[in-house]
Amino acid sequence: MTGHRTLIVGSTGFIGRFLAEASLGSGRSTFLLVRPGPASPSKAHTIASLEEKGAIVIPGSIGDQDAMEKVLKEHEIEVVISAVGGVSVLDQLILVDAIKSAGTIKRFFPSEFGHDIDRADPVEPGLTMYNQKRQVRRAIEAAGIPYTYICCNSIAAWPYHDNTHPADVLPPLDCFHIYGDGSIKAYFVAGTDIGKFTIKCMDDERTVNKSVHFQPQSNLLNMNELASLWEKKIGRTLPRVTITEDDLLVAAKEMCIPGSIVASLTHDIFIKGCQVNYSLDRDTDTEVTSLFPDASFQTIDECFDNFLARIIDADPVVVVDEPTTEDTIGASNPERKAFAITASCS
Ligand code: NDP
Repeated sequence: MTGHRTLIVGSTGFIGRFLAEASLGSGRSTFLLVRPGPASPSKAHTIASLEEKGAIVIPGSIGDQDAMEKVLKEHEIEVVISAVGGVSVLDQLILVDAIKSAGTIKRFFPSEFGHDIDRADPVEPGLTMYNQKRQVRRAIEAAGIPYTYICCNSIAAWPYHDNTHPADVLPPLDCFHIYGDGSIKAYFVAGTDIGKFTIKCMDDERTVNKSVHFQPQSNLLNMNELASLWEKKIGRTLPRVTITEDDLLVAAKEMCIPGSIVASLTHDIFIKGCQVNYSLDRDTDTEVTSLFPDASFQTIDECFDNFLARIIDADPVVVVDEPTTEDTIGASNPERKAFAITASCS
């Protein structure tokens, strides 16, 4: 085993699993804090497959400070990565206290994995989650714990405004929902790359007490470009339906959690341009492709190939046609309709 002894919190979650896979892939001692209690079949499967790759499971919750302190000391943990979900963000305050008391942690990666929450300013209810993440940042800094904040932007997938984990859902085959005029760009980063580059940061002193921004130019696209790329993959054009700024604000105001949080962040990304409307001008900023210029990112093209393979695997009868002349005309002048979305708390 090489590298720092690493504890991952939230490895059964969406982002946490990518982090655990990358940590194990790098050959370091990887411990997983897993909440005790009955596990769903998919959670049990995730844990078993990570254990098979060498992970050591430690039962526990970050809500228990004494137990956490004991875990950190007994297993001589050097790095803690947290990927707890939105509802558990504030539980990390207890983890911060445990890390401070243990006094042996060389680096803490709190659950961020999105935007720079000290810059972005989404409408509610995204704002409440950002305020909680900001509270955790301030506690880490006040405790003097060495940290890295991973600002990896969007996961590479079709950005559904009503789905927390868009990469679990395939891109559309019926019609595209385009936010605003579809011209605002965002960075779409593959989950495996979020894992890979987070682990690279862990071993790199240049990322101590920094926000690491993921801005690979090859992954910077707007929704119109994303839609055209997917049309190329499936060999046909799809109607494009406009989701207006007001539609997104209405969905955010419905306060259905977590859907409304996603709607508010979608508004921030694709209407306000929160991923592209600032420059990296703070001492604490660093950018991942400048840090690791020789390491490549998976492109959206490659990610979409994977989605297509999943579609064909699931239903080989889904025929991907060559584009027709009509489709080609449609591609340059896609049908665009206004569409009022209605969020519902069902
Ligand atoms: P999930 O809800 O999928 O998973 C959360 C994980 O945390 C689960 O493994 C859960 O365990 C664990 N957990 C929660 N509370 C505790 C606790 N008290 N003690 C120990 N473990 C706990 O989270 P996500 O992957 O959706 O979110 C992780 C981070 O990534 C968040 O900060 C989120 O904002 C961000 N994110 C970014 C995205 C992007 O596109 N950039 C997309 C999605 C998320 P259990 O199995 O027991 O419930």
